[in-house]
Amino acid sequence: MTVRTRIAPSPTGDPHVGTGYIALFNYAFAKHHGGQFILRIEDTDQLRSTRESEEKILQSLRWLGLDWDEGPDIGGPCGPYRQSERSAIYAELIKKLIDNGTAFPCFCTAERLDNLRKEQLARKENPGYDGCCMHIPPEEAAKRIAAGEPHVIRLKVPREGKCIVPDYLRGNVEIEWSQIDMQVLMKTDGLPTYHFANVVDDHLMGITHVLRGEEWISSAPKHLLLYKAFGWEPPVFCHLPLLRNPDKSKLSKRKNPTSMLYYERIGILPEGLLNYLGRMAWSMPDDREKFTLQEMIDHFTLDRISMGGPVFDLDKLNWLNGLWVRELTEDQFAERVAKWAINSEFLRKIIPLVQVRTEKLSDLGNLTPHFFQGLLNLTPEQLAVKKLEPQEMQRLLTVILWELEKEPAWNTATIENVLKNTAELCHLKLRELLAPLFVAITGKAVSTPLYQTMEIIGRDISRARIRQAIDTLGPISKKTEKEWEKRYAQDLKDYAEAKKGEQA
Ligand code: GLU
Repeated sequence: MTVRTRIAPSPTGDPHVGTGYIALFNYAFAKHHGGQFILRIEDTDQLRSTRESEEKILQSLRWLGLDWDEGPDIGGPCGPYRQSERSAIYAELIKKLIDNGTAFPCFCTAERLDNLRKEQLARKENPGYDGCCMHIPPEEAAKRIAAGEPHVIRLKVPREGKCIVPDYLRGNVEIEWSQIDMQVLMKTDGLPTYHFANVVDDHLMGITHVLRGEEWISSAPKHLLLYKAFGWEPPVFCHLPLLRNPDKSKLSKRKNPTSMLYYERIGILPEGLLNYLGRMAWSMPDDREKFTLQEMIDHFTLDRISMGGPVFDLDKLNWLNGLWVRELTEDQFAERVAKWAINSEFLRKIIPLVQVRTEKLSDLGNLTPHFFQGLLNLTPEQLAVKKLEPQEMQRLLTVILWELEKEPAWNTATIENVLKNTAELCHLKLRELLAPLFVAITGKAVSTPLYQTMEIIGRDISRARIRQAIDTLGPISKKTEKEWEKRYAQDLKDYAEAKKGEQA
């Protein structure tokens, strides 16, 4: 049997380091066994998926050097490799499940489902579908479908007993069927949900081993039901421990930069990041910390995966990357620096912001450091802005973070727009809101224009610097943060009301 593994990212945001980690383990496992590693794009969530995000994920995986044998860009024998292009396959296969009674059309309205949920919550039950449409005779269901009645297709899930999920690392995991919802497999628009498309594709693409994050273990019972319903052999499941913040919570961009683009931008080398990700949950037989991708492939076995939640620790990553950087020859180092940011493509982005402020070329040294730095060395004194108390400044910077987070596009116009709205939301003049932000981003009271600068340094570095400024101003209690959240919710409400009033 040829081992075939896959990484199946959903293109709904920046390429996450967690995707790099899971991709690396799948890659190393497949290559260790002389097998194939496949890239499949799971864009079933049409509202949130974008081609831009897909492109960035591909770019980051390429940057890491995890080349795939089959994928949406290079094709392959099991294509297409983008789920949005496989609708006909899912439409055909769902019929089988309806015919053999493992799935059923459900005509319940959103209103009924909403009421059901509320009632269940009031009774302190787990919310979930109650099986109402499961009992509609097939002839009646067929008539209603023919008459054009909106419906979804749901999976029939037993209400009693336990499902046994065989997991390579955990052995047999028991999950009560009552915990598992009667999952929608096909939406009203005839497009599949993740669960259905994922199982169909893993089977049709010949995936033998599914190495994925442990957050999916609770979905495995639905997946196993589907394999059984089709009469297909399930792959070997191996749920990998999730990456964690230093406080052991799930790695999240609220606490840590999570985008691979961030690490590339601050000058982490791909071999440094790969090596670091390889050490998450896995170790070399001789426990050495520094190893190449090929060395990892040579020694990779699932048995050396450890289950303790691996902590993504920036200091450790920096340290390991330093080993790689210092080992480069001077020529290689020069090449890497040029590729990173000392190149005309990057300089051309900065020049429009600095040329007008330049008398002699050496002025660039003072004008541009914040384009080449990661985090800045800020002091509370630098951040001090007249009129604003430090805690109020922290609150405003936090609101800015929340507001920027909601905006999917990152460019000068969208940043400007968000900040203008945020000033209104906080009842401040734009100038007042921008003063602390300006220092947080550029490290100076006078520097290059803010919006353009934020566009160039990117979302992740901007976010990290704002967070750093908040931390520099002192610790914040959980209680204070809760109060800010409440006030923010109220401000948003007032703001929406005011806008409505303006339009009326
Ligand atoms: N699209 C899912 C994700 O983004 C894939 C999960 C899986 O590997 O089954 O995590």
